[in-house]
Amino acid sequence: MNDKKECPFCERNELLNSLIFYESKYKSNNRWFAFLDSLPLTEGHTILALKKRRNKCPNKLTPEVFEGLENALKNVTRKLKKVYKTEDILFASLRGKTPHFHFHLIPLHKKDEKKWREKTLYEEGHLFEFLGYLECEKKVKEYPRQRISKNWSEDDQRKNKAKKLRTKIVELKKA
Ligand SMILES: [Zn+2]
Repeated sequence: MNDKKECPFCERNELLNSLIFYESKYKSNNRWFAFLDSLPLTEGHTILALKKRRNKCPNKLTPEVFEGLENALKNVTRKLKKVYKTEDILFASLRGKTPHFHFHLIPLHKKDEKKWREKTLYEEGHLFEFLGYLECEKKVKEYPRQRISKNWSEDDQRKNKAKKLRTKIVELKKA
């Protein structure tokens, strides 16, 4: 996917721009931006993505992609912990559909974890499985069901959910 027009993180649409709450300064050729996922796995699910100074999609895992990441991670996790009052955040970089280098920051909320542990009887660990469970519950069941019942496209749904995130975006920017 070298054509930047195909990449949602290079060609950011209005909806994505409205969800951004953090942008770093450039370090070498990199800067980082963070936005709330409009179809989150948990409350506060954030995507931290790289932006290159020149418009080239950073879709390869090279040493250069990590420039500036430490600082961006520090700032974004601090904001998430403060606004969502959580102690822990899960990190994932899977880049399945979107190869543009990015991370998922998924706040771990005690109530979600507890509910899942009661079902699975796992007393600890297994957090990869927890993410898989959340993906199934949210992306395979809850969100498609809502789209069908409201007769929404995914885009309609994202716009609707983004509206409800506005106050959080303000809080996250300030935090
Ligand atoms: Zn890209």
